[in-house]
Order: sequence, then C-alpha cells, then structure tokens
Amino acid sequence: MPSSLRVFREIDSFRAYRRQLLLDSRSVGLVPTMGALHAGHLSLITQAAVENSHVCVSIFVNPTQFGPLEDLESYPRTWEADLGMLRDLDQSYAESNKVGPPNKRLGRITAVFAPTVKTMYPNIPPSGEPNANGSFVTITPLASLLEGSSRPTFFRGVATVCMKLFNILTPDRVYFGQKDIQQTVIIKRMVQDFCIGSEVVVCKTIAEEDGLAMSSRNVYLGARRRKVAAVLPQTLRRTLEQYSAGERNRDKILKPALAHLDASLEQQRGLTPQARALFELDYLSLADPDTLEEMDSVDPRKGAIVSGAIRMLPLEDAQGGEDCGLGGGTKAVRLIDNIILEPLGLD
Ligand code: AMP
Repeated sequence: MPSSLRVFREIDSFRAYRRQLLLDSRSVGLVPTMGALHAGHLSLITQAAVENSHVCVSIFVNPTQFGPLEDLESYPRTWEADLGMLRDLDQSYAESNKVGPPNKRLGRITAVFAPTVKTMYPNIPPSGEPNANGSFVTITPLASLLEGSSRPTFFRGVATVCMKLFNILTPDRVYFGQKDIQQTVIIKRMVQDFCIGSEVVVCKTIAEEDGLAMSSRNVYLGARRRKVAAVLPQTLRRTLEQYSAGERNRDKILKPALAHLDASLEQQRGLTPQARALFELDYLSLADPDTLEEMDSVDPRKGAIVSGAIRMLPLEDAQGGEDCGLGGGTKAVRLIDNIILEPLGLD
C-alpha cells in the first residue's frame, strides 16, 4: 500500500495542505522533534494518531536551543532512518485500520515538516548566545529555573521554535513527552499567555528496560556509562516510594534518593579508572507542578514534580575496542528525567 506521507520543506506548500484539511474539517496533531527518532517519539506520534485524523511530525534541529558550547554540530542526524520509521509506522496504522473496529481507527501520518534553517530564521542567523540578536520568545521566570540554570538560553530557543511551528502548522493538538517536563510546563504557559488555539498533550516517558529514559543523546554514552546511567531513574523512584508511604516533607522525601546517588557514586569510585563511570549531580528538585518553584512540603491535593539531572563524566582510561559511544566518550553527557508525585483525591 502506498504511503500517504509527504515531506514539506517550505512554509507555503505546507500551508496549502493545511488549508485543505481545515476545509475538510480534519484534525491535525503535531509532534515536534529534532529527529534521531526512537520509541519515545513514536509513542507521541501514536497518541497523536489516536486523537487526530492527520499527524504531522516536524524534524528540525533547532540552533537557538543549543548553547555556544553544546552539541549542535554533532547532534545525531538520521534522516533516512527517521523517514523509514515514519513510513513503517504509518503502514502499521493502515493495517490496523483494516481489521480494527471503525471507532478505533487511527489517524495517518500524512506530513513531515522538515524546514531549512533559513526558512525558520529568515532574517538573522540563529544563535544560542545570551546576547544574540533576533526575534525570541521568552517565558520568565519558568525558563530560568532547573534546566535553565545550567542552560540559560535553552528554553528561549525551544519557545521560539515552537511558536514558529505553531504559527506555520496551526495544529489542533501538540504532543510533548513528560521526559522533558519543564518544556511541557513552559509550552503550556506560552500557549496560555499568547492565546494560541492548540491543545497541549503530555505523553508518558518511554524508558529502556533498566529505567533509563530513551533519548536521542543516549548514543553518546557508550556501554560503560550506559550501564551506570540507570542511577537517575532509580534515584527518582526513591522519592515516589517516600511519597506513596505518606511522606510529605521535602528533606525526608529527597533523603533516600540522595543516599542512593551517593552510594552508587561510592561504588563507582571503588572501581579502577578503566572500569568505572563517574557522574555528578546537577540538581534534584522537588517543585510545584505549575510554577516549578521548590517546595518545602508537598500538598497532596496538588502533588509535585521531582526532576533530576546528572552529568555522566568523560570516560577515563578508555580501552582499545571499547564501545565509548558517539564522540568517543571524551565529553560529559547530561541526562534528565523526572517523576510526578500525583495529586491524591480527597475523600
Ligand atoms: P527531541 O527530538 O529530543 O526534541 O524530542 C521530541 C519530543 O519527544 C519531545 O516532546 C520529547 O519530550 C519527546 N521525547 C523524547 N524522549 C522521550 C521519551 N523517552 N519518552 C517520551 N517522549 C519523549
């Protein structure tokens, strides 16, 4: 069966396609990505196909969200594989629609929007420098907290590119992963504050078997650091155990988590440099779900977000033939993840 998927590189041709869908009263779900697609992205796309007749996936490595010292040049780009995955996924929807009940029909992936940098930034070359010129969307103070404290221009870039995508694609719904939870809070705020007519849908994080959240950047880890990286989700889970057991106090919720991190680090330090993978904690936060402000205690009617970031340090003493990951293990790899302490119903 031929794929219905079209690749758009220009704004005008995309708008013509979008206008027709509007005239036909069809719904459009947008999944914004930077490519290097994995199962986490695909789960967002499938959620969009459940809720919309048409799914558009954007693939754009957005320069303004990379700081001057970050990995814009080396960020994995896997265009052919991405397109193959999207075609296969779309085919699987078509097959399932043939046999499934009519009320469970999935939408189809009909558009990939993959613009050039010049199309997205037509006037001033894009930059993630703090003092860069250009037209930017800033969402304060949310953008300066947590991830924003070590990546000061990151959310300016994210909000700016999302605003452009929303203006071009005018989706009914947009899909984001819980893995990047601060991003979802900021995009929701932007949609509210700028009166954007799209609904923001947050989809759960897809993780590897050991709990590590899938990420396009995991390819930088290599085998040795990859094994130790599961310490982050393990740490977050400790906080949920405390909350589920009735603990509400910040220090008490975080203590076993921090102890787990310390113990894991001690264990690595006990190994030889050629066997170990050291890491540093960037932050472990217990924050209000709407404002992302740190909390001293959790109001169970509201719940909280526990988020964390660690830096897997460069590999020491890499051995010949060792799988060191993309980039040879010479640079630190930052990992983020989070867990939601859900609000509890009041009886
Ligand atoms: P990226 O291509 O990394 O910018 O991610 C595009 C979208 O996919 C974002 O909304 C991410 O939050 C989401 N995403 C990335 N990794 C995962 C994952 N492991 N599970 C669910 N969503 C994810």
